[in-house]
Parts: sequence; C-alpha cells; structure tokens
Amino acid sequence: MRIHEYQAKALLTQFGIPVPKGGIATTPVEAKKIAAELGNKVVIKAQVYAGGRGKAGGIKMADTPEEAEIGARELLGRRLVTEQTTPEGVPVSKVLVEEAINIRQELYLGLVIDEINRLPVMMASEAGGMEIEEIARLSPEKVLKAYIDPPTSVQPFQARKLAYAMNLNPEEIRPAIELMGKLYQLFLAKDCSLAEINPLVITMEGKLLALDAKLNFDDNAIFRQQDVEEIYDWEQEHPIEARAAQLGVRNYVKLDGNIGCVVNGAGPTMSVIDLLAQMGGKAANFYDTGPAPVPKEIANAVKIIIGDPSVKVILVNIFAGMGRGERYAQGVVDGYLQSNAKLPVVVKLSGTNVEEGKRILAESGINYFEAVDLHDVVSKAVEIAKQISRR
Ligand code: GDP
Ligand code: MN
Repeated sequence: MRIHEYQAKALLTQFGIPVPKGGIATTPVEAKKIAAELGNKVVIKAQVYAGGRGKAGGIKMADTPEEAEIGARELLGRRLVTEQTTPEGVPVSKVLVEEAINIRQELYLGLVIDEINRLPVMMASEAGGMEIEEIARLSPEKVLKAYIDPPTSVQPFQARKLAYAMNLNPEEIRPAIELMGKLYQLFLAKDCSLAEINPLVITMEGKLLALDAKLNFDDNAIFRQQDVEEIYDWEQEHPIEARAAQLGVRNYVKLDGNIGCVVNGAGPTMSVIDLLAQMGGKAANFYDTGPAPVPKEIANAVKIIIGDPSVKVILVNIFAGMGRGERYAQGVVDGYLQSNAKLPVVVKLSGTNVEEGKRILAESGINYFEAVDLHDVVSKAVEIAKQISRR
C-alpha cells in the first residue's frame, strides 16, 4: 500500500526529517493562495501514485502566485502518464505547492527490505535525482548499500560509510547520519516496505532537505497502521480493482483477456491462467476465493466480473477442500442473479459437498455449463469465448 508524497512528507516531519514548506491544493485558486502565503518562487507537484513525474511534466516551477495558478490548472483534473504508469496514466486531483529550493546537490537515500537477505537495506548515492534508476543499472558502484541488523538498528559506522558515499562536506555528515537514523525509525515504526528520499538535497545554504518522498507499506501489517489505511487513495488504482477492494473482494486482479475467472488456491489459479493461454484463451482477471469461501464475497466478485465489459464467459474452477462446495456454488449463483446476467458460466466443482453445489447451480436458472476437470473447464471456456467473439 502506498500514500501520496505530501502525506509521506507529513510522516517525515513527524519523525524529524526536514522537508520544504508547502501546502496541498485541489483547485488552481487554492494553489495561488498557498503560493502567495509562501511568498516566493514555488514548485507545483502533481500528487499521484507514480514516480517519474519530473520527466513527464508533472512538476511545474512558478515564479509568482499567478504562475502557480496556471501551473496547477495545467495539472489538476488531468491524467498524468509517466514511465511508471499504464498508458492511461493516473488522475491528478491534488497538487503540492512548495517553496522552490535552490539546490546545490541532489542525493539519493532509500530503505527497502532485501528479499534475498531478508533484512532492511539502506542505500545511498551522490547521484540522486531523476536518473537514479539508470545510474543504478549502468554504474551500480555509485549506489552504496548497508544491510541493517534489526536488533542493532543503523550502526554509526554504517551511516558514516553511507554519508561518505554521498560525498558530503564535513559539516553535513552529522546531520546526514541523524537523518538516516530517523528514516530507519520511521521505516520500522510504520511497517514500511520502502522509504525513499529522491532527491535528498543539499541546499545552497548547506541544509539537508527531503525534496521528494515515497513510502510503501507492508500490506500484511496494515491492520496495525490504521492511519495509513484510512488515507489510501483508491482513485489512483485500476478502477475495477478499486471497486473490488471497496466491496471486500480480496485477491482480485484485473487482466486484459475476455474470460472471467473464479478460482481458488494460488497454484490452481496459475495453472488456469497458463492453461487458458496454452489453449488460445486469455483471462480477463483472476479472483482467488481463498480456502474459506464467503458466499457474499464470491457474489460480489462475480458481480464485478460480470460488470467488466471485456468478459464474455466466466470460468469457475474450484476444489472444495477446507471450504464446502455448496457455499462456492451459492456465491456464484447469487452474484449472477443479482446482476441480471446472461453470460455463460462454465463450472468445475469438486471436493466437499459437490453434489449439493451442482444441484444449486443446475436449479438456479443461470446459463450454466458443467465441466469435469481442469482441462475440461478451460477448453469449454475457451471454445465459448471464441464462439461469442465470432458472432
Ligand atoms: P519525481 O520525478 O516524480 O521523482 O519527482 P521529484 O519530486 O523527485 O522531482 C523531480 C525533480 O524536480 C527533482 O529531481 C529536482 O531536480 C526538481 N525539483 C523538484 N523540486 C524542486 C525545487 O524546489 N527546486 C528545484 N530547483 N528543483 C526541484
Ligand atoms: Mn523523486
């Protein structure tokens, strides 16, 4: 889960990391007002869940409040396409208006969990800014790493090594080391999976300042980070996935084919997707019910799948192991009937209580095709999808 830059900066401030002065605007007039209050040159920054804004025109400089208003007008209400977004881009409904900073140097400072070493790793570079990905790829030696042992936190020798890697002047070393410690405290306290300051700048006056901030949070810990969950901006997500999450449908992922999939188990799900592709079909999504089916959640998932205009047929592949077969069937039928759908549904149901489940499906009046195994359900769904597309 992620949050916007301005929200990340509020957290940085809470943990004692300096950021530029600024305010958030949802209209051009508000942006003008904030710029006037700041009383100097400002930067207008599109608030979206994507980096690469600088290169994509998502950051505007303004010398006067009038220019700030114009800059905000160019960004607000538009969709921003950056190298990190889909071609549709992400909506801009807020801009951050900040005092413009005279930059002496742009540095990079980041913290992530290293999945291989299973430790937090802090990374620093003197070559921060918009080219850091390119630099990390072409000259990895310019990015220095320090693995952090959780019980001992960031050790002073590690922070010093990173600070030297940033090529700082002697008097900037101590503030940089302190800043690293604070970033690690934030990372730990907020269950982050990533905390990145790029660029971390040294101003002309020799001050360290987080000019940009990106925080990602571990979804598995979000239950204890309620304040983060509450500010999550659903508008930034794929609209269908956002709707799914709002309806309590977990594990729904939108894909670009025309066969809607209701499946259970990560392994069987991947098998269905692969087999579909092998047999000339393409999944429109996958929805993994999980091992304990909740009919209402399945019904909501089916409604979302039916509401997706690209879906021509629904494939259901369920093995009722821990969950009971009739509960899966009931969920599918409820969702179908509540949507007034005509779509064909091909179902392979096996395991506990399948007879009861099949009876529910057969008697429901939905456009139901029975399949006996994985191969059967996939080939029938592909065949039906092809017939419908030909019409
Ligand atoms: P990103 O491209 O989405 O990562 O957006 P950033 O917030 O990192 O901004 C991109 C670039 O804009 C930075 O690397 C800076 O070069 C520039 N920039 C942002 N704010 C300021 C500012 O206040 N003053 C100056 N001179 N440049 C800025
Ligand atoms: Mn940045």
